[in-house]
Amino acid sequence: MSYKNFPMVPRVIFGRGSFNQLNDIIAPKRLNIKAPFIFLIDDVFRNNAWLTSRINLSYDDRIIYISSKEEPKTSQVDELVEEIILMAKERPSGIIGIGGGTLLDLAKAVSIMLNNEGETKNYQGWDLVKNPAVYHVGIPTISGTGSEVSRTTVLTGPEKKLGINSDFTPFDQVVLDPELTKDVPLNQWFYTGMDCYIHCIESLQGTYLNTFSESYGLMALELCKDIFSEDTLTKEQAEDKLMMASWHGGMSIVYSQVGVAHALSYGLSYLLGTKHGIGNCIVFDHLEEFYPEGVKLFKAMKEKHNIELPQGICADLSDKDFDTMIKIALSLEPLWENALGKKWKSIATPKKIKDLYKKM
Ligand code: NAD
Ligand code: ZN
Repeated sequence: MSYKNFPMVPRVIFGRGSFNQLNDIIAPKRLNIKAPFIFLIDDVFRNNAWLTSRINLSYDDRIIYISSKEEPKTSQVDELVEEIILMAKERPSGIIGIGGGTLLDLAKAVSIMLNNEGETKNYQGWDLVKNPAVYHVGIPTISGTGSEVSRTTVLTGPEKKLGINSDFTPFDQVVLDPELTKDVPLNQWFYTGMDCYIHCIESLQGTYLNTFSESYGLMALELCKDIFSEDTLTKEQAEDKLMMASWHGGMSIVYSQVGVAHALSYGLSYLLGTKHGIGNCIVFDHLEEFYPEGVKLFKAMKEKHNIELPQGICADLSDKDFDTMIKIALSLEPLWENALGKKWKSIATPKKIKDLYKKM
């Protein structure tokens, strides 16, 4: 038996207002005055002086605003890397991603691709990255994905939606400032928060579970219950707790895997562009047979917060469309094996998956 040896985020700062310390944190990492820091920021913050006025740009440092309407694509990473190489006199000192999972994943991918040859799509998979990434910092502004701790950056490529899973993917520094999440809209708060809840359920119910994953998963699940099914927390407390739930949920899947909801959600995302948080919710709503307790509580939380999920998103799809989604979903073998065990193929048949998609 050989155990996997995982890298972790080596530095993290937590606290309301800790974002104010960003300039001091990154300053020692400047390689020289020609090597800029590049800030990749969700364009929801474009004209938001409360956030951006706290970033000191020196020398050739630049902010690039990026829309998170669509999830990251390998071609988008290639374009960003090209743009950065053209604009910078030297290889950047660091990439700082500010936003949700979309921006965090882009920052991770760009920092890897600045130091690795060829196209991003060639690195989708496990342990394909050869050279360490450029110094990269993750600053979440919405909580739930766990991207701030994870060893992957999920990208849609020409052939597949799959992460760059590597030892060079995790951030070198994370800034956890729950105050940055104060203006997240209610629906989005729920969808991305449920990503964390679903990580916990899939990890805790999975066959890959070990004590490392379980202890993080249980912590994150408790926090999610406090946040989404009780009324005892102030808004600030709920923001603080969800940021830590996201972290622990992400830690829980380091040593295990996600499961059925994520596999099916990747299929929706690939074909229809359904975003991760809402896609997971749409799928999870129909997974009673796999996660009976987890889905029951999910439905109660959905009700409590008056969340209406889209219905009938697969109503007009052709057989070919269903086949595409089924192929993407079934290609994620570790997710199915984690969820259903070694004999998963006898349970997760194409017909079974099609029946599930038809309900959505
Ligand atoms: P997101 O980054 O797409 O953001 C969702 C929405 O919230 C956007 O409209 C964004 O503009 C808005 N937003 C973010 N912060 C805000 C703020 N403070 N105030 C107001 N609006 C704000 O959503 P997400 O759910 O965080 O991330 C989804 C992405 O994360 C997907 O691409 C998914 O594949 C990826 N993901 C990655 C991992 C990983 O381990 N790498 C894990 C799970 C999900
Ligand atoms: Zn997820």
